[in-house]
Amino acid sequence: DRPPRFHRKFTHVSDGSSAPSSTIRVMQWNILAQALGEGLDSFVRCPLEALSWSHRKYLILEEILTYRPHILCLQEVDHYYDTLQPVLAGLGYSGNFCPKPWSPCLDVEGNNGPDGCALFFDQSRFEFLDSMNLRLSAMRIPTNQVAVVTMLRCRSTGRCFCIAVTHLKARSGWEWLRSAQGSDLLRHLQNLVQRQAGSQTGAPTSDIPLVICGDFNAVPSEEVYRRFTASPLGLDSAYKKLSQDGLTEPEYTTWKIRPTGECCTTLDYIWYTQDSLRVDAVLDMPTEEQIGPDRLPSFSYPSDHLSLVCDFNFKEKE
Ligand code: NDP
Ligand code: CA
Repeated sequence: DRPPRFHRKFTHVSDGSSAPSSTIRVMQWNILAQALGEGLDSFVRCPLEALSWSHRKYLILEEILTYRPHILCLQEVDHYYDTLQPVLAGLGYSGNFCPKPWSPCLDVEGNNGPDGCALFFDQSRFEFLDSMNLRLSAMRIPTNQVAVVTMLRCRSTGRCFCIAVTHLKARSGWEWLRSAQGSDLLRHLQNLVQRQAGSQTGAPTSDIPLVICGDFNAVPSEEVYRRFTASPLGLDSAYKKLSQDGLTEPEYTTWKIRPTGECCTTLDYIWYTQDSLRVDAVLDMPTEEQIGPDRLPSFSYPSDHLSLVCDFNFKEKE
């Protein structure tokens, strides 16, 4: 008599119609590192049994299989080689993993190695072009935060795009560091998109679409969020489409109770190039009632962060 899974629905947010074969479904999810959940996070209202890997791994895979994203962007992955990579390879996904240089998981007894960012894509939908692991810098000094950046070609439309996943520095007091890390990532992506555009097609920068998924550890009022909004890459945040006015981020993407209190806030985002991509559908967030009084993680949900899932399509070239 375990509580049921959340029942979440897709909200269709555009009036454009596209063939299902060209829709790109993207999932952004901080899955909660096993070592951190059991060792350092102190989720005071979550039973230890619900935090065991033997329980959580099925819920994580169930979440992925429920929505079947074509691209999967994950943070806090500390079971890449022994679980996620082999299981997802069996489902047709190809992956890249970038561990954090000094993962806090390594401080936990019985850890399973460092946590990091992982990016998986459906090989039947995309041709692999290139991937790189980045260590983010702040004022030229390397930090403990990373990103995976992958270039793909869509087999049905022939169009190339770039997808990135990152996990910025956590906790209050580090707003300046998140801002610097975000700027570093934007700089890398701008170089990449410009170089690729110049060398392959001679097309302008904005022609290579970008999707950037992340646990930014930053609320929408933070500087790093403003930097993404104002960047010359022409980015917008997909989850704003879920709101009534289309301009407001969700109320929460993470909801947990630590000894220091309850934390219900928006930290996770899916950014995309507005000129070349259109958001067609967004998976809604579970309600407070569904999440329940003990919040997350729980027996019904394996992470303190909710998954973000949306469907993109390429806009017609003008
Ligand atoms: P962060 O501050 O970015 O946080 C690491 C993880 O802790 C995140 O996954 C974060 O989750 C989670 N977290 C956030 N808030 C809390 C909280 N209140 N309680 C418990 N967990 C929380 O870590 P860093 O990457 O900066 O790494 C810090 C650790 O790395 C240090 O403890 C140290 O051991 C090690 N380190 C070692 C260095 C060395 O030279 N030896 C250098 C740098 C780091 P979420 O994102 O979901 O909020
Ligand atoms: Ca965490």
